[in-house]
Amino acid sequence: MTFPSRRPAIGLFGGSFDPVHNGHLHIARAFADELALDTVIFLPAGDPYHKGGSRTDARHRLAMAQLAAQADPRFAVSDCDIVRRGATYSSDTAAIFRQNFPAADLWWLLGADSLNTLHTWKNWRQFADTVNIAVARRADGGTAPDAERAAWQRQAEAAGSLKTLSAPLHPASSTDIRRALAGGGDAGALLPPEVAAYIRRHRLYHAA
Ligand code: ATP
Repeated sequence: MTFPSRRPAIGLFGGSFDPVHNGHLHIARAFADELALDTVIFLPAGDPYHKGGSRTDARHRLAMAQLAAQADPRFAVSDCDIVRRGATYSSDTAAIFRQNFPAADLWWLLGADSLNTLHTWKNWRQFADTVNIAVARRADGGTAPDAERAAWQRQAEAAGSLKTLSAPLHPASSTDIRRALAGGGDAGALLPPEVAAYIRRHRLYHAA
């Protein structure tokens, strides 16, 4: 990858991507456009390290993310959170990218629903000190923050390290798509066509 002469600007986009959908692509494009990012790296989460997790196998989620990422030349996919053993925390992922790209501006993309749970993440303060955070609005993402996070949010917004994207709302959610497919419905309008074809080919999410 060749970077321009200014500081490279790298966007990181973690998620389960189970499956990746048009809402993810919509906010990733807005993220790249509004922050003039050189690249947006999708980071599919690993398989749950403890028993009882119910995500689709990481190799499928990674393959679908790779198909979806073809939609934009700025998009890339990393298996960084899949190949690490045990629990993978976003604070560790952010630290790995900071170590590997010491001179880059690092931005992390969150939906508003994820911002609402940020204060429950392991080492969330350290995470927020390592990367800037961009938030995409989401229909059900508006609960009031607790006092500690509200104070952090005010300070981070004033410092320019927390920004809300102006992208319009996009209704897609992986939960709704999984539910529609399991019920025999068609979620094609919410999925990149290559991802919809992959799901059909591998018979993912369909009721037994
Ligand atoms: P699920 O329904 O299984 O929780 P999801 O649709 O939220 O899945 P994730 O892979 O968990 O998808 O999302 C990764 C990130 O993208 C999260 O920060 C989430 O908030 C954000 N996101 C996903 N879909 C949207 C959307 N339609 N609008 C805004 N943000 C979104």
